[in-house]
Amino acid sequence: MTIAEPEYVTLSAECALAKQSAYRDMHQRCDQREDIPLPHSNGILLQERCKCRCHRQRRTR
Ligand SMILES: [Zn+2]
Ligand SMILES: [Zn+2]
Repeated sequence: MTIAEPEYVTLSAECALAKQSAYRDMHQRCDQREDIPLPHSNGILLQERCKCRCHRQRRTR
């Protein structure tokens, strides 16, 4: 109960850090592009995919 978890968007640690201009390069280190299901569970996610914009750039258009 030390830190309140932010609940807005799901970002990986890398991309969360990359929000600060000094750490912009961290976007490239994020490899959390897929949901990670919890083993032996039905549809429960251990880790949700990172929703940072930097992973969306490709398609669209
Ligand atoms: Zn990012
Ligand atoms: Zn990311």
